[in-house]
Amino acid sequence: MTDTAVREIEQARNEITRLRLRTQPFIAGEFRDVIGGARYVTENPATGQPIAEVAQGGPADVDLAVAAAREAADDGRWSRMSPGDRKRILLRWADLIDAHARELGLIETIDAGKPISDTVELDIPETAACIRWHAEATDKLYGEVAPSPEGTVATITREPMGVVGAVIPWNYPAQMAAWKLGPALATGNTVVIKPASMTSLSLLRIAELGAEAGLPAGVLNVVTGPGDTVGEAIGRHLDIDCVAFTGSTEVGRRFLTYSAESNLKRVKLELGGKSPQIVFGDADDLAHVAANVAIAIFWNMGENCSAGSRLIVHRSRKEALLEAIEAELPRWPVGDPLDPATRIGALISRGHLERVLGYVDVGRREGARVVTGGRRILEETGGYFLPPTVLDGVRNDMRVAREEIFGPVLSILPFADEDDAVRIANDSIFGLHAGVFSADRERALRVARRLRAGQVDVNGGGFNLLAPFGGFKQSGYGRELGRHGLDAYLEVKSLQLP
Ligand code: NAD
Repeated sequence: MTDTAVREIEQARNEITRLRLRTQPFIAGEFRDVIGGARYVTENPATGQPIAEVAQGGPADVDLAVAAAREAADDGRWSRMSPGDRKRILLRWADLIDAHARELGLIETIDAGKPISDTVELDIPETAACIRWHAEATDKLYGEVAPSPEGTVATITREPMGVVGAVIPWNYPAQMAAWKLGPALATGNTVVIKPASMTSLSLLRIAELGAEAGLPAGVLNVVTGPGDTVGEAIGRHLDIDCVAFTGSTEVGRRFLTYSAESNLKRVKLELGGKSPQIVFGDADDLAHVAANVAIAIFWNMGENCSAGSRLIVHRSRKEALLEAIEAELPRWPVGDPLDPATRIGALISRGHLERVLGYVDVGRREGARVVTGGRRILEETGGYFLPPTVLDGVRNDMRVAREEIFGPVLSILPFADEDDAVRIANDSIFGLHAGVFSADRERALRVARRLRAGQVDVNGGGFNLLAPFGGFKQSGYGRELGRHGLDAYLEVKSLQLP
């Protein structure tokens, strides 16, 4: 980390007592209390202490937000604004998010337990970058002309859906919001978005910055509250035209039911994963492989839909790779998320920590060996900390290899030959992400093509904010980011002119 970055983070920490947290829904351009006035406590996962009381919305609050979004969609205050003006507002919003990176990063860290070096240096800048990329797309979306008989013209345009509902998870609260808001707003829609109830604070501030940037009232509405009331009300609302959901496969499935039982709104799903990382016997630099394997599974406490949780390694290299991974662990200090040196902060909640530890026990009972980690640490802080955990001796039919754990838990599965590796990797209900490590370029590409996943990294390719992201199989469908990410928010219209 650069000296400037460390100074930024130190300054952010000093500002903690001055934070003014927004805790009410943001509807029709203003914060307002929920109907009924209920509130719930949101806590800091690194201390177990309350941070704030957040307004607990319900279906009636969703109705209000949808009414505001519908009015804004119908009168065209956003969709009929010139693309250049829309772009300027979105760009100003991205700049404001960047300018408030310290404040937003701090909010994200205390609300979600994420290391401050990540939130200030990556999460918030990437949130701004995502809004900015879509802002730039606003005035670059052209239509088409279909082959037309002499004397006629058939144009093909893509129009906003209207009112978009968005429901997002707690693992990247600001970024997941931007992945939805960027494309939905750039394409002229209005939005009602629900953050995860444990992590609502950064989005509320981001919405306020949107208004400051010039987003007209009603274009962006945020309703806070639980999934089974606010989330379901969004999923079933008759006046919402499309829903973009990121979260678990189980809840994603419900959104299809909500749609089927309401107005057949379009549904886009970004769901869970159980991503394989295949390491061939010829992967020559095991330190490089181990560093990438560790990033893939330990980043963000493993609370990552794309976490590379199944390490499928050629049996001849398993022991050497295990050693290389153990040598990598000192680079992943666990602790206070407000310490700039921390790379693994707290898991999101006590319940989630218990769930992850439950999987470690299931693994033990199924015959896996816990090589390292597997026990709660730093309990005296009140926080929910789990160190990097590695399970050896895992078979692909065990629950720890089949179900999403969503924590820093790596399962190691040996393979015999290339077909075996591909078979194990593809033997999953998920298909979000995969990695291949091999010094043989031809083999790496051949295997990458055979893997059933929306994104494949070869020899540690890394994440690219400009490439489409999304899953095969039960990891969902539709893509976010890049040009493909716009499609979900647009209807195609053809127009015949004499
Ligand atoms: P979750 O499915 O429990 O919750 C996601 C959102 O849905 C939250 O806002 C929640 O309040 C809401 N919700 C919960 N129950 C609901 C219901 N009955 N009806 C409507 N809405 C409801 O997921 P989570 O625990 O917040 O996040 C973890 C999951 O998200 C993991 O499975 C992870 O893989 C997935 N995820 C996927 C991606 C991706 O891009 N594919 C990205 C991040 C997270």
